[in-house]
Amino acid sequence: MQTYKAADNALQDKVILVTGAGDGIGRVAAITYAKHGATVILLGKTTSKLEAVYDEIIAVGGPKPAIVPMDLKGASKQNFRDLGATIEQQFGKLDGLLNNAGIIGSLGPLEHFCSSTFDNIMKVNVTAQAMITKYMFPVLRKSPSASIIFTSSGVGRQGREFWGAYAISKFAVEGMMQTWACEVGKTNIRINCINPGATHTAMRASVYPGEDRDKLACPEDLMPTYLYLMSDDSKDVNGQSLDAQTKK
Ligand code: NDP
Repeated sequence: MQTYKAADNALQDKVILVTGAGDGIGRVAAITYAKHGATVILLGKTTSKLEAVYDEIIAVGGPKPAIVPMDLKGASKQNFRDLGATIEQQFGKLDGLLNNAGIIGSLGPLEHFCSSTFDNIMKVNVTAQAMITKYMFPVLRKSPSASIIFTSSGVGRQGREFWGAYAISKFAVEGMMQTWACEVGKTNIRINCINPGATHTAMRASVYPGEDRDKLACPEDLMPTYLYLMSDDSKDVNGQSLDAQTKK
């Protein structure tokens, strides 16, 4: 899918919710979706970052986005329910949900893991994704063709030393996607995962501070896969975990 080329209007009239839209991969995905015609709902923790993405989308001529400041760590059932109701009221449907927001915590031996860090990672990377997906289902069912994308990782497919709670959370994401994909079967909703692969973002720099950034992919390089799974070209794709980069 890394060579996929989306039509300029591939996401015309679609409404897409992107979590973690203020920075990194989520920021570029939100702008890319808007450039292809989608009205994007920007959800993230830091309002000023979401506002900057809003401005970028307006500057490139994309449809007017919406901003939802929300800390997924502390978000409640009611917050997600309210979000679903607001989307239904304002847009009448939701065509896409990119579950992208994530945290990595600190790397180290599992034997020494800190339980509060473990809990926080599970809350943001797993529980919040499960909750937001559950509460978006009613409004996703109103779309003629809805796509849910979870964000996985190489360490969520094959265990690797020192990746601790982050790796465990990404295994959970893969399992959640597969379980959900089996349950939706042949409905209007499809559910898949993307493994972005090593990408130059603040998260990557936090665990590899000395890495040569020029050797890394940038978020823009991943967008063919993000566009493919969000566009109707992937209508029949369900329960897959795709790599956004070619393996080196
Ligand atoms: P960044 O750290 O660059 O961006 C993460 C985004 O998630 C930020 O916008 C951040 O908001 C948001 N976020 C974090 N915590 C919360 C929270 N509690 N509530 C709401 N929003 C939150 O990460 P990347 O872009 O690198 O990663 C995006 C996804 O890709 C993650 O799921 C990550 O695990 C995955 N991934 C990344 C890889 C890489 O090499 N970069 C490789 C494999 C997977 P704010 O800035 O306001 O804190």
